[in-house]
Amino acid sequence: MKARKKLLIVEDNQLNREILCAILEKQYTVLQAGNGEEALDVLEKQKDAISLILLDVVMPVMDGYTFLEKMRDVPEYSSIPVIVVSQSDDEADESTALSHGASDFVVKPYNAQVIRHRVESIINLNESAAMMNLLRYDRLTGMYSKEYFYQSARDILMDNPDRQYDIICSDFENFKLVNEAYGMKTGDRLLRGTAELLGKDMRGKGICSHFNSDLFVCMLDHRESYSDDLFKQITDNINQLTSAKNIVVKWGIYVAKDRKVSIEQMCDWALETARSIKGQYGKYFAYYDDELRNRMIHEQEITACMEQALAEGQFHVWLQPKYRLDGAPLTDAEALVRWFHPDWGMQPPSVFIPLFEQNGFITKLDQYVWEEACRMIRNWDEAGFGAVNISVNVSRVDVYNIDLCSTMMGLIEKYGIEPKRLHLEITESVVTENPDLIIQTVKDLRGLGFVIEMDDFGSGSSSLNMLSRMPLDILKLDMQFIKSEMAKPAKDGILRYIIGLAHSLKFEVVAEGVETKRQMERLDAMDCDYVQGYYLAKPMEPKEMEKLLANHSVAKIVSENGPADEKEAPEEILFLIDEDDLVRREVPDIFRGSFQVEEAANEEEALTGVGMFGNRISVILMSLSLAKKNEGRLWETLQTENKVWNVPIILLGDADADAEEEALSMGADDFETMPCRSRSLQLRVEHVRGRKAGARKRRRT
Ligand code: C2E
Ligand code: MG
Ligand code: MG
Repeated sequence: MKARKKLLIVEDNQLNREILCAILEKQYTVLQAGNGEEALDVLEKQKDAISLILLDVVMPVMDGYTFLEKMRDVPEYSSIPVIVVSQSDDEADESTALSHGASDFVVKPYNAQVIRHRVESIINLNESAAMMNLLRYDRLTGMYSKEYFYQSARDILMDNPDRQYDIICSDFENFKLVNEAYGMKTGDRLLRGTAELLGKDMRGKGICSHFNSDLFVCMLDHRESYSDDLFKQITDNINQLTSAKNIVVKWGIYVAKDRKVSIEQMCDWALETARSIKGQYGKYFAYYDDELRNRMIHEQEITACMEQALAEGQFHVWLQPKYRLDGAPLTDAEALVRWFHPDWGMQPPSVFIPLFEQNGFITKLDQYVWEEACRMIRNWDEAGFGAVNISVNVSRVDVYNIDLCSTMMGLIEKYGIEPKRLHLEITESVVTENPDLIIQTVKDLRGLGFVIEMDDFGSGSSSLNMLSRMPLDILKLDMQFIKSEMAKPAKDGILRYIIGLAHSLKFEVVAEGVETKRQMERLDAMDCDYVQGYYLAKPMEPKEMEKLLANHSVAKIVSENGPADEKEAPEEILFLIDEDDLVRREVPDIFRGSFQVEEAANEEEALTGVGMFGNRISVILMSLSLAKKNEGRLWETLQTENKVWNVPIILLGDADADAEEEALSMGADDFETMPCRSRSLQLRVEHVRGRKAGARKRRRT
């Protein structure tokens, strides 16, 4: 049986009320109120359960119009239809009633049939309008619903075949976290606020819709270009809406050129585009293009075959040695996964790991890699290779997905190895994302005896302060960070201090991506503990690793005559001693590729450099002013010091004849004027080296 609908009669005259009740109560449940105030009380209790109100205009306490105004102010009541009942059939009364928002107007005395008919038809009309609105508008934001947006967009595209449109789609990074951290109410407020912002920004330019949760879609008139500024501004405004800050929103744009593509597909592509730049700092929007399309197709192919690939053993675990710089034999390696696909060949992790992190498959793959690592440790123990430690990568997703402690314990128990043999590399970015969770997880894992390494340190934005809160064992410095540090003059870098800080916190330090001898030596000089990189060894199959272990291989820095790597830095050193920053910036570039350039900015650094590089220095460039400083003390030392006494020296000074004469009379091999001209300086270096070599030969004969 259908529930009876409820009506509310608001009328001060009891007799009139009873007449109306008698007319309507057969069909409806009738509630009564004697004036506007009582009526508001009834509404308050019944909320939106009332289907229609019959309202007298003239009443004590609160008249009908005042009541109408008040109820229209409350969103929950404002959609209840009202029929105004009046003594007179004056047209002015009728129009006043309608302008106050009444749906209809009837005149006393009551005509039962007319009343029943009006009530019924108004209720029906209102219900179908409400139904339409429900379909058309999203309840939370009041924006177009997804279905209605699709319909409207289709109509617009059809009616305007020659006009161009853009479909723009939003993707909030970690919207779920907003709900979790700040509560659903804040989440809802954020979405409503965003809808309002978009409505304002896009007014007159197209249509907008709230599809669901954090997904907003707009179809706007085509623009030739969009700027980061535009989207950055919207993001900034979104961040002002609630207490939830640091909200990152990415926008994907699909230019709706091909009208054969369905609107649903267009929106999907725009969304995929937005997602494709997730995590890319400073990038606010992207266009859907062929490259993205191909990538997405390839990603679909990968997703389709990954399970089978794992089952068939297409994933191999390779190892890259990590050498101790103190000369101890090799005992450490990192496990790095490789995919040998029957058609595509060997696939590096960069192709599939980000995708697996998105679709969750990484958790399965990682557990496979971890198990392989444990198996190798066990096998090598049995083969007598000595205690080899293997570090495995733990994806940020694993930290959320599984109970790392019990999974790891299960593995080491299965293979009967000690936890300290398995090192867990957790990337720095996960620490920035959710520090409290990760700190607790790391504490638990360390409590069980696992060794924790923080991977890619220096690549993200985790603070040094965070380091002191993190119970770590090993800090792994990011490859790019090492590279950029190595490009700076030794005294300008912060690497030395980071290593010092790590040591003071009792962490050991691994440098990743070491590609040249020079990098390795500088890291050694800075007291770095381990090096890993192509200069020493590339990732290799386990069999190759076994050979290294069997040979007790050690880092090249201590090996007598380590084989020269093709990428190795030039052996000969050009030593530049100059207090002028500009000179120290420019000169190394001139000799890149032909010398390893080492620098010193003062007397003290110069002496340290001589001590460190001594025999390998082939030529010295030095400012005349430093040569003359302290009555030529440094100059004297360079002339007499065993390691460098016969190394040619070119003095650098201002372009005046006196300076050149002074330099040559001090015994310099040549003089070059500053600012330097690169070709001239190169030629002088060649000359002085040739002359000295000749002189040495002559001396020997
Ligand atoms: P990562 O953990 O920072 O690993 C170091 C990456 O640097 C490896 O790349 C390694 O081959 C590369 N590399 C080492 N030395 C050098 C060098 O001297 N020069 C250069 N240019 N590169 C060097 P790979 O193997 O391609 O792995 C890339 C990333 O993929 C890894 O970065 C890690 O984050 C992830 N990954 C690899 N295997 C796994 C795995 O089994 N599970 C998970 N979750 N992630 C993995
Ligand atoms: Mg790693
Ligand atoms: Mg790394």
